[in-house]
Amino acid sequence: MARYTGPVCKMCRREGQKLFLKGERCYSEKCSVDRRAYAPGQHGQGRKKPSEYALHLREKQKLRRIYGVLEAQFVRYFKAADAKKGITGDILMQTLERRLDNVVYRLGFARSRAEARQLVRHGHITVSGKKNDIPSYQVDEGEVIAIRAESKTNPIFAGLQEFLTKYKTPAWLELDFENIQGKVLHLPERSEIDVDVQEHLIVELY
Ligand code: SF4
Repeated sequence: MARYTGPVCKMCRREGQKLFLKGERCYSEKCSVDRRAYAPGQHGQGRKKPSEYALHLREKQKLRRIYGVLEAQFVRYFKAADAKKGITGDILMQTLERRLDNVVYRLGFARSRAEARQLVRHGHITVSGKKNDIPSYQVDEGEVIAIRAESKTNPIFAGLQEFLTKYKTPAWLELDFENIQGKVLHLPERSEIDVDVQEHLIVELY
């Protein structure tokens, strides 16, 4: 499955805000947005007023980058959201939020969505008792997301249980830190999705 493999901090600098793509580093003084708060490249420090189109485009790129979704898949998500009844922007946000890699991240099993995606791809995650290695899988109400029993002793999960004792999940997820698993209580409402994006600009763009 295709994914972006270039430098990720550049993406935050391009969008002019932290997108939290690198886990621990994002909360440290090493964060590139904090150190160099201007766009990357030769003209990054020039002050150019963005056009209306550029504002819409940047919002779309920002959302895509936060969830680590490539353009083609993002367009598919948008078309599917647009075809459904309801507010397209809200449905789009819910679709992205329901991705399995995002849920693994939201449950605190990984420090970034990229790390969560890797955990899923490497077969460390189960959904309602069955191994699931598809990062784009859409979780549903009532499903239980857990670390596979055989993986719990893997050194990559050392200290995870202790970390989870202090971890707060969004209201649509329920975390059981003793068993390192989480349940989808209900599908996420837009108000429960902590992502600073103006999705109506994306809808207007398309
Ligand atoms: Fe973005 Fe994190 Fe890199 Fe900061 S450290 S620029 S928030 S990916």
